[in-house]
Amino acid sequence: MPAYSATAIVLQRRHFSETDNILTLYSPEIGRFSAIAKGARKPISQLSGATEMLTCTRFGLASGKSLEIVTQVEVMESFPALRQELPRLAHGLYLADLLNHSVEDHAPNPELFELLRSGLRQMETLSPPELAARWFEVQLLGDLGYAPNLFECATCQTPLPGEFARDETFALSISQGGVLCPRHARPETNEDHSALGMGALRLLQTLEALGPMGSASLAALPAVGPRSLDLARLALRRSLRRHLERDLKSLEFLDSLRNAA
Ligand SMILES: [Zn+2]
Repeated sequence: MPAYSATAIVLQRRHFSETDNILTLYSPEIGRFSAIAKGARKPISQLSGATEMLTCTRFGLASGKSLEIVTQVEVMESFPALRQELPRLAHGLYLADLLNHSVEDHAPNPELFELLRSGLRQMETLSPPELAARWFEVQLLGDLGYAPNLFECATCQTPLPGEFARDETFALSISQGGVLCPRHARPETNEDHSALGMGALRLLQTLEALGPMGSASLAALPAVGPRSLDLARLALRRSLRRHLERDLKSLEFLDSLRNAA
């Protein structure tokens, strides 16, 4: 059995048998792949901590017949603060779920790995934690080639936000893949238009401008009102749903937390 090692973040962990887990891992050099962690479900297993969801681990691996086999583990980064508050953990799990459903197996993309790692780091401390999720979504859409044009109207090409008044309504057109000025936004009547106020539009523009390496600047952004955060969240969710063609289980969990708050 050829043996090798790889750093990877645990995107998913499923029970395989009484004692074994199947892991979905994301590595900068390999991309997404699955491996079996034998004995990881035994209480005293050395594997259990290093194979927790969202942990970044250096794995020793052997190529099995159908699956890679975990032979050694060394925790690189476990994001402990993420595990102390349910909303942070739930958002972290959402980032992993989103990435898991956005990529194919064995398609290495070191930038996406770094995006996930820095998103999880920000998720440990950022307030509110959902800001890190919005940044991650904007950057992920960009990396996948689906970045919406946020700086001019998709219909009339007017630069945005331009001279429009603060209380006017913009929109993100999901089918046009870009924002619309108040003259062309019809969120009340057109299902394709997701409403954005000035605050939400500026937030999306700022998040995009930070770029995939810019997560450290998230903490220094001016405070964003709850309504702007909400509109940005809904617009991004609809864009992602269009491209992923599915709803994510982790989103249902986040929704239930939000509704219980
Ligand atoms: Zn327009």
